[in-house]
Amino acid sequence: MKTKNINLSQELKKHFGFSNFKGQQKEVIQTLLEGKDVFVLMPTGGGKSLCYQLPALISEGTAIVVSPLIALMKNQVDAVNGLSEDNGIAHVLNSSLNKAQTNQVMQDIRAGKTKLLYVAPESLIKEEYQEFLKTVKISFVAIDEAHCISEWGHDFRPEYRNIKTIVDKIADLPVIALTATATPKVQDDIQKTLGMTNAIVFKESFNRPNLFYEVRPKVNVDREIVKFVSKYKGKSGIVYCLSRRKVEEFSQLLQVNGINALPYHAGLDQKTRVANQDKFLMEEADVIVATIAFGMGIDKPDVRFVIHYDIPKSLESYYQETGRAGRDGGEGHCLAFYDPKDIEKLEKFLAQKPVSEREIGLQLLNEVTGYTETSMNRRQYLLNYFGEQFDPENGEGAKMCDNSTNPVALKDATKELIKLLQL
Ligand code: ADP
Ligand code: MG
Repeated sequence: MKTKNINLSQELKKHFGFSNFKGQQKEVIQTLLEGKDVFVLMPTGGGKSLCYQLPALISEGTAIVVSPLIALMKNQVDAVNGLSEDNGIAHVLNSSLNKAQTNQVMQDIRAGKTKLLYVAPESLIKEEYQEFLKTVKISFVAIDEAHCISEWGHDFRPEYRNIKTIVDKIADLPVIALTATATPKVQDDIQKTLGMTNAIVFKESFNRPNLFYEVRPKVNVDREIVKFVSKYKGKSGIVYCLSRRKVEEFSQLLQVNGINALPYHAGLDQKTRVANQDKFLMEEADVIVATIAFGMGIDKPDVRFVIHYDIPKSLESYYQETGRAGRDGGEGHCLAFYDPKDIEKLEKFLAQKPVSEREIGLQLLNEVTGYTETSMNRRQYLLNYFGEQFDPENGEGAKMCDNSTNPVALKDATKELIKLLQL
């Protein structure tokens, strides 16, 4: 890629106002600017956007950024355009634009104004866009939320599978793929599908040392949660449930118990959903009771607890959902309730799915069962799942889980008790 002799730290300060790079950002950017393919695995909040935004700003031409959600794209574009000196350098090309707006974007790209062009994969498929992109100078392609390519990821999107073929049609371009999903299976899948098995990989630790992980048997779960949440009066927390019905019921139960809680699920009308989310963000509501529909792109730094009323479908989802606690580095208590019967229910549900989906689903579920039943350090279990080593004695946050603070014998006794109660 053609770039002038540049001082990256100066450019960082100039465009973003930051004095230092975070983690491996600088190395990532240097490698991309050398024209190599790069694969970035960093946890949420690690600062992935900057890894392609800064190089885009200082490279000749327009960088194409593939991103899965129109709403997320809009946030990012507004954020980049809000950087003081760089007005109007990021644009979106997707189905939300009318013809005139699309033409304007194309004109800006031709004029060399657009440094970052955000596209949804389903727009990239359009022949007319491909033809157009062939005629302009493209610096590189960034594929954000790259786990969407993999059926092993938590957010598979079939359109992502075609990206490689389309990019190849446009030109021979360096590719940077980024994700916060780090299981070796997903990583492998991404690299193969994008034809970037030779990419330089940058992987940061997924350890979240300030989160406390706890699993309890699902006995008297309503009462247990009410008791738990009551201790956090005035603090923010999320309770995840599998079904919309449970979300409704349980948010009401919390309200009856004097807790300022609101429901959130995809069955609510758009207005209520947005209103409830905003109230949570603005701290007019303390607790949000939600299905997995809640959370993508939500950045509330002071969430003090995340509770799983029902066990999630994969450890990946569990990590993403618990990861919404303690973003500010403060306390984050992650409490999950486990009943083997819930696993059976999920298995029955999977039995109705096509074979490949079922097999993947069952394997993911097995890992969840393993995690809930383990007497191992939970942080170690999670990190091993992500292909990362962790020292359960001296690693950062080693003591932050139930298994390192509660004697194992007591836990086993509780397990026996739950079995008896289920007879
Ligand atoms: P990710 O996509 O990895 O979840 P983001 O790109 O959204 O993370 O960045 C998370 C936050 O970190 C943002 O608020 C961003 O402004 C901030 N950030 C990124 N790089 C730096 C840096 N070098 N110094 C300070 N803050 C940074
Ligand atoms: Mg991101």
